[in-house]
Amino acid sequence: PPRNQVVLEAKTVTKRFGGLVANDAVSLDIKAGEIHALIGPNGAGKSTFFNMISGVDDPTEGEVRLMDRPMTGQPSRAFAALGLGRTFQHVRLLGQRRVIENVALGAHRRGQRGWIASMLRLDRAEEAALLAQARRQIERCGLGEFAEVPAGSLALGQQRVVEIARALAGHPAVLLLDEPAAGLRHLEKRALATLLDQLRAEGLGILVVEHDMEFVMNLADRVTVLEFGAVIARGTPAEVQCNPKVLDAYLGG
Ligand code: ADP
Ligand code: MG
Repeated sequence: PPRNQVVLEAKTVTKRFGGLVANDAVSLDIKAGEIHALIGPNGAGKSTFFNMISGVDDPTEGEVRLMDRPMTGQPSRAFAALGLGRTFQHVRLLGQRRVIENVALGAHRRGQRGWIASMLRLDRAEEAALLAQARRQIERCGLGEFAEVPAGSLALGQQRVVEIARALAGHPAVLLLDEPAAGLRHLEKRALATLLDQLRAEGLGILVVEHDMEFVMNLADRVTVLEFGAVIARGTPAEVQCNPKVLDAYLGG
């Protein structure tokens, strides 16, 4: 999609769990070629929102649109088929398997049945194409030298990048990252930020859900801040950083 085109949009999305309002009319959009950060303290509703915009869970009210299509009631597989790639808060790699195999699992044709079924039915040429595609994504992410080592032997920061490469192997237009910087060392965060900069320049729309305020403030084009399920601030990092409500929410005002 052309730069600045909205690739994913949430319109007044509300999620209730019994009496608890985990998301209260949250609106947000992600444009091609930008990094949008969703931040907020623990329990603010970030993961709940993430689940709704990736098709894991349905909103109680409101609408999610992906590539300008209404997605209400669609399974996460349909989101993937339309161009959504994601990573998980906790690394989900097959540690004994080589990096290239892990990434190839993301390259199996999107929207089809489970990968195991599709893997088993691949012929030699299809398998070779899948591995070539995986290798391209690994190199794109700067991990070329690690393609043949077991994923579990890499440092956490590198495993996070492998997960991004796996998401990229599905050719997404939108990339959703759930707390990608959590638990990373300073230099690993720097490397991750450099990669996300590069992907933004290539035209991806990226949503980073983060607890680490410093990490996103140096990276994001726009920031949306959640507290108790509701948007309390939005704007550029500079605008959001000096917003008294945000300082209160983070410093436990
Ligand atoms: P965050 O990711 O920002 O830490 P969450 O989205 O995980 O926040 O949680 C927001 C609120 O919703 C919390 O009060 C949490 O306890 C509640 N919550 C999340 N998921 C469920 C669920 N499946 N059932 C009931 N309550 C939930
Ligand atoms: Mg969370």
